[in-house]
Amino acid sequence: MIYIVFGLLWILLTDKVLLTFAPSVTAYIHLETIKGFTFVFLSAALIHGLSSLNNRRIKRLHKELVSNYSALINTHRDLNHQKHLVEEIFNSSNSLILVWSLSGEVINMNRRFSEVFGYGDEIIGENWPALLVPASETHRIQSLINELRVNHEALDTENIIVGKNGREFTIQWNNAIIDDPFNERLIAVSFGTDITSEREKDQAIDKLIFNDTLTSLGSRQSFENDLNKFIEYNMPFTVYIMGIDNFRAINEIYGHKIGDSYLQRISNAFLKLPNCKTYRFSGDEFVFLQGEPTSNTGIFVDRVLGILGKKRRIEKFVLSATGCIGATHFPEHGHDFETLVQNMTISLERAKSSGKNQWAEFDFAFKEQLTNQKCITDSIETAIESGSFTLNFQPIFRVHSRDIEKFEVLLRWPNIPVKSMHIGQVIALAEKTGQILIIDRWVIKKSFEFLNQNRKIWAAADKVLSINISAQTFHSDDFIDYLTECADFHDVDPKCIELEITEYSLIRDLKYSKKILDQLKGIGFKLSLDDFGTEYSSLNYLRQLPFDTLKIDKSYIDDITESKGVSHVIIEHVVHMAKAMSINTVAEGIEHEYQRAFLDDIHCEFGQGYLISRPLNGVDTLSLLKTHLESRQASA
Ligand code: C2E
Ligand code: MG
Ligand code: MG
Repeated sequence: MIYIVFGLLWILLTDKVLLTFAPSVTAYIHLETIKGFTFVFLSAALIHGLSSLNNRRIKRLHKELVSNYSALINTHRDLNHQKHLVEEIFNSSNSLILVWSLSGEVINMNRRFSEVFGYGDEIIGENWPALLVPASETHRIQSLINELRVNHEALDTENIIVGKNGREFTIQWNNAIIDDPFNERLIAVSFGTDITSEREKDQAIDKLIFNDTLTSLGSRQSFENDLNKFIEYNMPFTVYIMGIDNFRAINEIYGHKIGDSYLQRISNAFLKLPNCKTYRFSGDEFVFLQGEPTSNTGIFVDRVLGILGKKRRIEKFVLSATGCIGATHFPEHGHDFETLVQNMTISLERAKSSGKNQWAEFDFAFKEQLTNQKCITDSIETAIESGSFTLNFQPIFRVHSRDIEKFEVLLRWPNIPVKSMHIGQVIALAEKTGQILIIDRWVIKKSFEFLNQNRKIWAAADKVLSINISAQTFHSDDFIDYLTECADFHDVDPKCIELEITEYSLIRDLKYSKKILDQLKGIGFKLSLDDFGTEYSSLNYLRQLPFDTLKIDKSYIDDITESKGVSHVIIEHVVHMAKAMSINTVAEGIEHEYQRAFLDDIHCEFGQGYLISRPLNGVDTLSLLKTHLESRQASA
């Protein structure tokens, strides 16, 4: 542009200037030549000046270009390096990395992922939950992805991935959501850890915890879990507990190996019971959990007892068994695990109380009875220590003359902790728990103490004191020693003491019983057979035993009504047979005059019952004796 302006000005102005100033045409031509040279020179100088100016700029630009280029090269190298590094990290990572779009399509995966699952680039663009997750888990994973799509919150997950060769892996995923700005979308990056072996170990441990090792049935722990699930969902169910009757005998007779095989065999049969899950609750106790209406209880119980009753050959033996079953219903019989299990055990207890091969449903009244019994057994020892027991004395009289001959010592518990229970039930319970041993000792000691304290009046009245001896006391090792030591210590003549022993005590071991009875008789104690007729009612063995008296049980006397019947004949027969063996008879529980009159007619010597006297406390017994002595003295 400068050159054009300069050139135009030169052309337009220089010729006019030369024409004005040139003196001649020759000079003008001359000057024109010089002007031409000057133009060449000046334009050359101008071109030179302008181009050198440009050159400097070009050089500067070149320099800038070179430095920018090398910076670009460096950045490119850095980027390449970083890309390489990222790829290295991505591929050398021990984690299984899966990059996927939130719609579930695979974008990329690392080398470890391909190595473990066998899948490579061929799955890019595929929906991974549909391709890699087993059908049983697809739904769960799909709903997790849906949640992720809505909340954009990456949760950690765990699921099964099926590899290309069909092998299943348990993978724990740590998920991250990142922005993909180039494609304007969010993508998920999942870092997985293969926890298959840990889960297998967990499963093995679970198997040990939740399965019974002998029978492969559910364990007690698994029963607890399943029962709690039913309770949580408030689903009605029945829980049955079955105990094999006397399973100990199977182990003892055939050996534990056969016993175990038997349990395995019946367990296999239990597994086939419909609509129920079976668990081994303890050694020979099984539990069945059934979400069935209660009306099916009887049918189900029959099936279980049928399985037990079936004959099974195990090695060279043929085995079958019976059992008792208790049934407890939810929600009627309890709302929580603890109560239901407690009531389930009580229902079994109830079934067992009826004998073998029985079943029963849980019953609140039975539970109360058991609770009462527990309260009694828990209080017996403290009652003895704190002097809460007392003794009563019931006269035994001559049936004909009504004269008192003896007194039977009867235990009393005035402030009994369970008001509805009477002493007969306490004694029966104490016999079950073994506490009768301490009760009997206490009664023996206190009876002897009573005789010692009132020796004068007792000797004058010349009466016998009859003490009840339980079967357990009778068979205890130091029974005779204790009795004689007590008699010595309290200076009591054994002749004043009669021991009432039941048939049940003798039958256990007749030979041993005879030996003990002979020893007692030898020492001087009188012997009375109590409650005759309630057990074996055999007069035959009585011949061999040194009894002085036979007490006909109250249940026979109750049958003596005003009109004669079979009972009259039986009682008469017993009285005559006893007489023939020189044994006296006492009729227990005479309440009516017509009973006394009949007994008198058949020459039964003695009687005991409310007709003459109820059991009396110590003070009343002594005043009765005094009156008796006074009237004797008066008549003398
Ligand atoms: P048992 O030895 O047959 O005692 C007689 C039971 O019949 C007593 O009941 C007595 O109160 C009751 N009795 C007597 N006459 C009549 C009557 O006319 N009507 C009615 N309804 N009952 C009558 P108790 O005192 O309740 O004793 C029950 C059982 O408890 C006794 O039967 C005995 O087996 C046992 N027992 C009582 N005291 C002792 C004791 O100190 N030691 C042991 N081992 N057992 C005892
Ligand atoms: Mg008695
Ligand atoms: Mg009796």
